[in-house]
Amino acid sequence: MELISCSAETIPSMGISRAGWLIRFPFDAGFLEEFKDAIDYHYREWRPALKSWFVDEDCEPVLTELFENWRIAPRLPPRKTSKPITICSKCKGTGLVPFKNKYGKVILNCWTHCDCHPVYGANPLWRQLPVRLKDYDFACSDSFRAWIYQSYGVPDPGYVPPQTEPEKRPFTPRPVINVTYKVADVNTPAFKDLREQLTTLKGRLTKYFEERGRQRGEY
Ligand SMILES: [Zn+2]
Repeated sequence: MELISCSAETIPSMGISRAGWLIRFPFDAGFLEEFKDAIDYHYREWRPALKSWFVDEDCEPVLTELFENWRIAPRLPPRKTSKPITICSKCKGTGLVPFKNKYGKVILNCWTHCDCHPVYGANPLWRQLPVRLKDYDFACSDSFRAWIYQSYGVPDPGYVPPQTEPEKRPFTPRPVINVTYKVADVNTPAFKDLREQLTTLKGRLTKYFEERGRQRGEY
């Protein structure tokens, strides 16, 4: 890709000034993806008003690779630090290294943060930078995700209120019923009546079945 323009720029960031370049290049969706993949978002910033990207000076080796005419880029003044600036050779300044599974196999299109990463690496600066929700771009459990949302004061879109249990009624013991068994007096007039009725019914039934049996020739 060829740069359209490139100028040196210093932007204030976290109380320090950050040097880099404001660059413009023709729009190309494929290249834009490549550009974003190569430069971690902590090192780049889109300036819509200028239709330009600000890219941190740490990314110069990557920019050299991405733009064929990088030689047009103005030199930046040397940094006011005593330490010599070196680009991490492990990640070429991107802050990302290929992810390896537990067997040491490199997983395609999967990245993990390099030790030089300004936010997540073994860098003392990381505590000063807020971690954003979109930084968690991996699968996590409901409770871990809920904890993240809670710690950033953002309502959890996946929150499910705890199920309320049906109200329990206080236990009341059943009243004790005392059953008393009595022996009926078989000599009452009502009982006598019933006995007579039963005898009549028995006689009629016997007569009826005898009649039916005779008709069928069973007797
Ligand atoms: Zn690195």
